Amino acid sequence: MEVAIRPPKSPATQAHGSERTFAKMATRFVVLDLDSTLIFARPMDMTTPFREDERNFYVKPLSLEIIYHVTIRKHVTHFLRELTRRKYRIIVWSAAFPAYVKDIVSVLLAMSSELGEPEPHVEYLLTKNELLEDLKDLRVISDFVPDFDISQARLIDDNPDHSVGQEKSFLLIQPFDPNGPIPTAQEDDDVLATLIEELDKSYE
Ligand SMILES: [Mg+2]
Repeated sequence: MEVAIRPPKSPATQAHGSERTFAKMATRFVVLDLDSTLIFARPMDMTTPFREDERNFYVKPLSLEIIYHVTIRKHVTHFLRELTRRKYRIIVWSAAFPAYVKDIVSVLLAMSSELGEPEPHVEYLLTKNELLEDLKDLRVISDFVPDFDISQARLIDDNPDHSVGQEKSFLLIQPFDPNGPIPTAQEDDDVLATLIEELDKSYE
């Protein structure tokens, strides 16, 4: 009896199929500011009561003599998880000192990881650096992240000055200040919960 031998599925066809899927979903980059966008930090003050809970923590960055009291914005952990789930590549860009940014971001990531969910991860941290200009220009990220595509990048920042010359890639966020005026100090600060949809829409 003759057995018909079917040729294996051509690897070329398979590759073609997955390439097509890839073409439809270009890699998206989100560049996040830190202070007043994701968190609010101030030097620890002996007159204010110590407070540590799911929205407040303290860090003492190496080489800095200051202990910072950090309050995280409502929905930050959900926002980071959602970015990861939607396959955004995350970059944090802050004008603050490297140790400060690194410490705070690692706490945020640890707080955001959840069992059974892909772990949020920040691909690159841009921090205070004499080579960087005061205004954030997304084009310089190509120097640090080789396959960075500016047309697929969005910068989220509370400072509108950073939008200059890159308006289409910029999403302004209302500044977060837990001691400030309404509404960002309030429990109904849902800015980050709605931003994810706004971010997705900005690519349409
Ligand atoms: Mg800021």
